[in-house]
Amino acid sequence: MILHIDMDAFYAAVEQLDDPALRGRCVIVGGTSGRGVVATASYEARRFGVRSAMPMFEARRRCPQAVFIKPRRERYQAVSRRIMAILQRFTPLVEPVSIDEAYLDVTGCEKICGPPAQIARRIKASILEETALTCSVGGAPVKFLAKIASEMQKPDGLTIIEEPEVAAVIEKLPIERVPGVGPAALACLAPWGVKTLADAGRMGAAVLERRLGKFGRRLADLARGEDPSPVRPHSETKSISAEVTLARNTADPSEIKRILLDQAEDVARQLRRQGFRARTVVLKLKHDNFRQSTRSRTLEAPTQSAHTLFGTVAALLDAYRIQRPVRLVGVGAANLVAANRPVQKALFAAGCRKKDADWEKVERVLDAIEARFGPRAVRRAGQDDEAKPR
Ligand SMILES: [Mg+2]
Repeated sequence: MILHIDMDAFYAAVEQLDDPALRGRCVIVGGTSGRGVVATASYEARRFGVRSAMPMFEARRRCPQAVFIKPRRERYQAVSRRIMAILQRFTPLVEPVSIDEAYLDVTGCEKICGPPAQIARRIKASILEETALTCSVGGAPVKFLAKIASEMQKPDGLTIIEEPEVAAVIEKLPIERVPGVGPAALACLAPWGVKTLADAGRMGAAVLERRLGKFGRRLADLARGEDPSPVRPHSETKSISAEVTLARNTADPSEIKRILLDQAEDVARQLRRQGFRARTVVLKLKHDNFRQSTRSRTLEAPTQSAHTLFGTVAALLDAYRIQRPVRLVGVGAANLVAANRPVQKALFAAGCRKKDADWEKVERVLDAIEARFGPRAVRRAGQDDEAKPR
């Protein structure tokens, strides 16, 4: 299930938020110079027919009483960052598509967060509470329908299209509302009497492709309710790591391994908390002469288990052979993948993956124990509590 979040009249809403005198009034944000266009119009101004991308002189003609404001992009960006951070709390699978829009893949979140409508209501409530702004949320089994759903009840809307309703929505969906259908495609489809997306589908994939090229094939997919584009999180979290400068330098591998074990646990906990698995494990060492070395290994299957992380960095350390005292030690997890995606089974390491999955289970239990009884409530044998500079 994919959710599309779209802030309502974002720039204008931020201006009305910052200046209470503007609330309830026509506000038009955009280029105020001669050839400027409307970036966003408040809903009050939209009643006079003012739309985004309309030339400013036209907006002035339709709504002369409006307050005209030059965009304050930095301010909008700051609010946008807060909104994206709120969305990240629901799932790491957030794809921001513009300053005020994002897709969320909430597949698999139902067990923790409830059905999509409930997740959507919680997102709306959190955004309203923390930014005093409203948004519209659409939900559907595929991306393009989620976007269409978010437009259905704007502003402050919430529309969920469930799987069984998909065909009926496509049957009635005006072709010009389909993302990617512009004037050229419309002109091409009009002679065929295409009014809805379902009409386009009835032309058949071969004909659509012949007339519209690659986009024709995509249109045929969309008409069947299929949208192969996934939610692509270009999340800021590209790696997770823990590192520490030692209280005193050491060249003793067993001493270093004790620290690595703590760090592996710390990194694994962060991975589980943020919903990632790591494909690549990194060992970082800095020597007393400040020369830094990193060694990494890519796993057969991504992990979020401290056991596997530690086993990997310990093997990297054994292979490294310390020549000089070490002053800094670190464990990194890179090449992250979302944990709620199915894991491709490692062909030649089925046994390892099984063991890894078992350890992940054990460690999730440890997370629960720590959540209840406090950090370090449970310790591994051989893990002492002294000398843990943090
Ligand atoms: Mg918007």
